[in-house]
Amino acid sequence: MRVNVDFDRCESNAVCVGIAPEVFEVRDDDYLYVLQETPGEELRDRVEEAVRMCPKQAIRVEG
Ligand code: SF4
Repeated sequence: MRVNVDFDRCESNAVCVGIAPEVFEVRDDDYLYVLQETPGEELRDRVEEAVRMCPKQAIRVEG
């Protein structure tokens, strides 16, 4: 799977970080970083939960 974040929508509230910190990180500069753009299948459930829980609907998963 491939993770895409629409950074124009993202407001760096770190909801996704709380769900899948292996994939998402908000740094001191207050921007979100995607640590793994193609995470392994073992992370799919939590990445998909992050998609559902993101209040800005900024995360998309392909594949
Ligand atoms: S949950 Fe959504 S809005 Fe919040 S940091 Fe993650 S991608 Fe950005």
